[in-house]
Parts: sequence; C-alpha cells; structure tokens
Amino acid sequence: MRVGVLALQGDFAEHLATLARLNVEATEVRKVGDLAQVDALIIPGGESTTIGKLMARYGLDEAIRARAAQGMPIYGTCAGMILLAKHIEGSEQPRLGLMDITVRRNAFGRQIESFEADLLFRPTPERAVRGVFIRAPIVSQVGDEVDTLSELEGKIVAVQQGKLLATAFHPELTDDTRVHQYFLSLISGTL
Ligand code: GLN
Repeated sequence: MRVGVLALQGDFAEHLATLARLNVEATEVRKVGDLAQVDALIIPGGESTTIGKLMARYGLDEAIRARAAQGMPIYGTCAGMILLAKHIEGSEQPRLGLMDITVRRNAFGRQIESFEADLLFRPTPERAVRGVFIRAPIVSQVGDEVDTLSELEGKIVAVQQGKLLATAFHPELTDDTRVHQYFLSLISGTL
C-alpha cells in the first residue's frame, strides 16, 4: 500500500511525517503520473484557492476525479476539505466537488484565526482527538450519503462519504495518529 500526499502547496510535509511514523509508504503527488503510483491520496491544509488552481493547471483535478470514481480513498484536511466539497459558500473557486457537502470557509471568524479544542471523533471514541483549527472551514450542509464524524459546538468539522474523508482540523499537526489510521483502514478495509 502506498499513500500519496498532494504536494502543490500547504502542509504536505506534516502528512508525510505522520505516515512515516505509521510506517506507511508515502510519496508526494505533483503531477498526473505520480497519481498512478498510489492507492490513496491525502489533500493537505493550505490555501484552497491556490491548490485548486494548481490542480487544474496540471490536470490533476480530472485525474483525481477519475481515480475517485474507481474508488480510491481520499482524505482532505482543512483546505483539502474545501477542495473535496461540491459547494463552497460564496465562492466559484476551482474544486474537485466529490463530496455532497457545503462548506463555509474561515467559518470561525478572523478574530479567532486558530485555536485548539478536544473533539469526539466518532470512529475513535475512546479518547478525545485534539483538534487544531487554522482559519478553518465548517460543513454547513450535508447530503444524505454523508456521515458526520465530529462536531464542535454544533458545527460539523469531520465528515465521511464512502471512502472520502474530510476534517476541518489538522491531525497531522499533533502526535495523535488515530485519524490517519482511520483513513488507512478505508484503504485496507480493516481497522
Ligand atoms: N482558510 C484556508 C482556505 O480557505 C484553509 C486553511 C487551512 O487549510 N489551514 O483555503
């Protein structure tokens, strides 16, 4: 099993470090050819408008959509969640549009740019996950096929639709690997 991390912009290095800690073979994905070498893909946090434009420029948007249609698992954190969404409130920015969700960017307001909070992440209920939020989006609407995995004060911050996973927060910035392990379980089919 080899996991790709989209490495166009943003905190891809932290995701690669988390995967290394889990002894998972991981590789940077920068062009269409790289995608053929991986069984799953992580889209990191960063600037969703920049990542979206670069994906389109390199044809990665179409290539990722094609792999998703064949069932490739994808995990998006923060900007990655925005790029997975079908609908982005008030924005026409390029996106993959794979998940039946509406997201609101920078949903916690400019005055609280970043913060941390303990969360119940439903797949790993034994102990709270430390959510690191950085200019984070929330999910403001979900379609019927979408499961809500975590909420913060009533706001949806983690969702899953089949083999697509998205979190508004950044587990790659903590030393807790359980969210990544949950994603890996979607690839192998076992937890
Ligand atoms: N606010 C950023 C965006 O809209 C996302 C921030 C992040 O990924 N940490 O792209």
